[in-house]
Amino acid sequence: MGRAFVYVILGGGVAAGYAALEFVKRGISPGELCIISEEPVVPYERPALSKGFLLPEDPARLPSFHTCVGANQERLTPKWYKEHGIEMVLSTRVKSADVRRKTLLTSTGETISYRILIVATGARALRLEEFGVNGSDAPNVCYLRNLADATRLVEVMQSNTGGSAVVIGGGYIGMECAASLVINKINVTMVFPEAHCMARLFTPQISNYYEEFYKSKGVNFVKGTVLTSFEMDSTGKVVAVRLKDENVLSADMVVVGIGIRPNTSLFEGQLTIEKGGIKVNGRMQSSNSSVYAVGDVATFPVKLFGESRRLEHVDSARKAARHVVAAILEPDKTGDFDYLPFFYSRVFSCSWQFYGDNVGEVLHFGDYTSGNTFGAYWISKGRLVGSFLEGGTKEEYEAIARATRLKAKIEDPAEVERLGLGFATAIVEEPPSPSPPSSLVHTANSSIVLEKPIYVWHATAGVVVAASIAAFAYWYGRKRRRW
Ligand SMILES: Cc1cc2nc3c(=O)[nH]c(=O)nc-3n(C[C@H](O)[C@H](O)[C@H](O)COP(=O)(O)OP(=O)(O)OC[C@H]3O[C@@H](n4cnc5c(N)ncnc54)[C@H](O)[C@@H]3O)c2cc1C
Repeated sequence: MGRAFVYVILGGGVAAGYAALEFVKRGISPGELCIISEEPVVPYERPALSKGFLLPEDPARLPSFHTCVGANQERLTPKWYKEHGIEMVLSTRVKSADVRRKTLLTSTGETISYRILIVATGARALRLEEFGVNGSDAPNVCYLRNLADATRLVEVMQSNTGGSAVVIGGGYIGMECAASLVINKINVTMVFPEAHCMARLFTPQISNYYEEFYKSKGVNFVKGTVLTSFEMDSTGKVVAVRLKDENVLSADMVVVGIGIRPNTSLFEGQLTIEKGGIKVNGRMQSSNSSVYAVGDVATFPVKLFGESRRLEHVDSARKAARHVVAAILEPDKTGDFDYLPFFYSRVFSCSWQFYGDNVGEVLHFGDYTSGNTFGAYWISKGRLVGSFLEGGTKEEYEAIARATRLKAKIEDPAEVERLGLGFATAIVEEPPSPSPPSSLVHTANSSIVLEKPIYVWHATAGVVVAASIAAFAYWYGRKRRRW
């Protein structure tokens, strides 16, 4: 027994929701699109799970954060999918895929066939067992990837108010969960092997600011070591964590955020895998022309970096989802995905945004003491390739996005460091001219020379894109939203 659809989206997360909206906007007929998801609910804004969902007062709950509210668009409720004739196959895991036959076999035994498949299976949280530590199934050990995890985390937090938690991992899940635990009146110790938090993105100087901020909220840091085992009571509950440095930390609960692994397994041996993800081209098309991939599971060409990357960020999933639908429905009008990587986080009263890439020389600027507004630029081969900013205004976030998108030329790093945010805000783009006369872009400061790309129209389009990213980002920050 089976059903057949023109388009099938495998996975019902962020990318699926944004792709569904784009399909409807561009016009599909009822019954053409099917979304298959292991989760029991229609797509939602996953970032809410470590933010608004964990608040002790007035927490975010579905249906309030179904996609696409995170991009200030329509909220797609179950009714919306029904009204648009989109078949939602929920609480259903796809067990195997056959890209030659264009079929998917579900956990209920149904074979669903497609003409075009979009793989949006995201990623799963890495488990401690994969690092040789047992105990993940203890009732007070929590992970955070999906709604079920978040619901469980809330229950465990609520039963441990006034108690202590050990957070394993210093990435954004660890940092955001630690902040939520503190807000829920739980004493937190963070344990991670690196020398500083958010080591994949932050410089030691940036990390140091946030660690001091967290310490001021009562968070304790144990760095440079890892968990080796749990001590459990007779009921199987964790009561302490043992560390490699021989420290033992008592714990009423444990939260584990040690990274993710993209859900590629259904397609290994059938599609080309690169850098841990399904390799796609600029139209998000895989090595099989009927199969596309987007979101955390896809490795796609990032034009700005001149190489393929797999990004684990919600903005990338949303925009790639829109792009893939355009590429499928209007192939002649759709070029390659041209994306400026953007990542953000909000913890306590802090709010930061990052654009581009964190490679090369770093220039720090701003007030790292008060923490009002500070940031960093990454410079590679004489160009600005990445920007980070804490506590910026709309214009300031727009400015760093624009400067990064344009890969502003850095002639004098010391001067850029001195100018700080002023370097980015000084960059103004001249309106496109039919016959570009010069290779220079005017800046408000004569000491800054931004070599205009020869393709002026590309640059201008880039600015428009960057400005809209920044406008969206600002809206995000200003509303102090919870997803
Ligand atoms: C708690 C949390 C907080 C986050 N916060 C931020 C943030 O602040 N900023 C940011 O930029 N990013 C953040 N992210 C990352 C962001 O949410 C992801 O990048 C984004 O969700 C990726 O979207 P996706 O559609 O690729 O995957 P997902 O949203 O993970 O969706 C994948 C879906 O596929 C389903 N699925 C997988 N395999 C199968 C199968 N075999 N059969 C059926 N269904 C399947 C899954 O159940 C899931 O529903 C956060 C992530 C988490 C977990």
